[in-house]
Amino acid sequence: MAVGWAGDGAVTQQILDSIDDAVERARQNLPSGPGLTECEECGESIDERRREALKGVRLCLNCQREKEKNQKLRSL
Ligand SMILES: [Zn+2]
Repeated sequence: MAVGWAGDGAVTQQILDSIDDAVERARQNLPSGPGLTECEECGESIDERRREALKGVRLCLNCQREKEKNQKLRSL
């Protein structure tokens, strides 16, 4: 399983690159400004704990999931 990981610089770099991409994408998706109490997509009220955990959150969980799903499909 772990054979080839150590010393296989190309594969390791590839993995690191894809992590960097993911981090960069996540960073760009970070909402700024105050969060919304209601989802800007569907108007559903956003859970208070979700708003506290995600500063500046603008989407409810369902819409966020949909958005992430679409982004993943587009990046393929
Ligand atoms: Zn929503």
